[in-house]
Amino acid sequence: MEKIEISRGFTPKVTGMPDLTMIRLPFPSSVGVSAGDIPFIRPKLLVKEGDSVRTGSPLFTDKRDRTINYVSPATGKVRKILFGERRKLIEVVLTAEVLDDFIQFDPVSSGELTDMPRADLVERLKQGGLWQGLRQFPARDTADPDHTPAMIIVSLNGNDLSSPHPALVLKGNEEAFMTGLDILRKFSHRIVVTARESSLKKLSGAVRDRVTHATDDMYPAWNPGTVLYQLKQNQAENTSWCVSLDHLIMMGKFLITGRYPVEKIISVTQTGDNRPHLLTRQGAPVKKLAGHFAPDSLITTGQFNGRLLDPDWHIGFFENTINIVENADGEEMFGFVRPGLNKPSVSSTFLSALFKRPAPMDCTLHGELRACINCSYCERICPTGLMPNFIMKALHADEIEEALACGMMDCCQCGLCSFTCPSKIELAKILSDGMDSHYKDKA
Ligand code: SF4
Ligand code: SF4
Repeated sequence: MEKIEISRGFTPKVTGMPDLTMIRLPFPSSVGVSAGDIPFIRPKLLVKEGDSVRTGSPLFTDKRDRTINYVSPATGKVRKILFGERRKLIEVVLTAEVLDDFIQFDPVSSGELTDMPRADLVERLKQGGLWQGLRQFPARDTADPDHTPAMIIVSLNGNDLSSPHPALVLKGNEEAFMTGLDILRKFSHRIVVTARESSLKKLSGAVRDRVTHATDDMYPAWNPGTVLYQLKQNQAENTSWCVSLDHLIMMGKFLITGRYPVEKIISVTQTGDNRPHLLTRQGAPVKKLAGHFAPDSLITTGQFNGRLLDPDWHIGFFENTINIVENADGEEMFGFVRPGLNKPSVSSTFLSALFKRPAPMDCTLHGELRACINCSYCERICPTGLMPNFIMKALHADEIEEALACGMMDCCQCGLCSFTCPSKIELAKILSDGMDSHYKDKA
């Protein structure tokens, strides 16, 4: 097992991290399939309100490739189709029945998988609603099935600090995990499996044996974008693929059983709480997952880089973390003379930097929006060696070539630059928007 060490990054000591227990939530009365968390999709609806659907029925597809299905995680009726601005699809909401009527595919044994032509495997995964779990760098769009990636990165830890612990996700799912790895071997000769050093000891020997790289515990050493940045040696590797542990297990389970896997493990963080992991249905309602929270709290799907969720929505296919943040965007009384003993801080702005005790996360800007002061904190923290301030200025000046020359496409979207910026500039969002629009222009 090799080691991946990073010299830049940051692990704030924050309160409210999930504990290592797990509880099963009651069956939800509604489930939703979100389109809002799917990068680049141009959804084409395949159902209308009032339609009956089975577990695994396609609900919508992607106009860019209409053979990719986004499927129902329950049996029931389409209750509502929710649109946002300019009729952008947000989610398809279903009234769910407790008993599943599955769309059934033929199970595939490990011998059959070995002999299965690659095209048949791609078609099966697309029909079953699992192909989109494979993502292709640099923009992390849905993987191109005609491409042979130089490597496929599997990170056992999710992208967030508080993502579900891999030992809990793998419990009872080791066979599906091994089958998932066999699936990946049909697409690439190099499979990179990474795990945070602190997670390794809780994994079974069989899983640990499959880990090729142990990463630092410093955030975001285990992010597939950071891993690729550390490992890549040539241009061809820029179009490698990655897949999360839960999607890999879902692919394995789907081939073993022939049925769409309907369960999901979610972690929830909230200041002052150490909540258990939640075992629930794919597409469960955010309100049920979040439990108790103050009415003006913000709910996101990550501490540094998540999507802002409406409590009335449902958790997406790519999401497995709920982060409840106290809404503190107002002025703090006499904030400028307070020592900040309970504020997470990268710099020495707050006294908390001297003490290693956990502090609560909030979303205060500590004053009004400010211009860049060229402090270079964002450069010093960026795990992929970028100068986010320069890239931001190039993007603002429409100098896309300069932004690319500064390595914009290497951004792993960890969000640390925004977190550390004393002017609270949304650097990660600016870079992510720049990457997306460059990628779309090229497509
Ligand atoms: S530019 Fe910001 S979001 Fe991107 S990798 Fe660097 S620190 Fe992370
Ligand atoms: S951290 Fe913020 S203020 Fe400092 S250089 Fe970067 S963008 Fe400018």
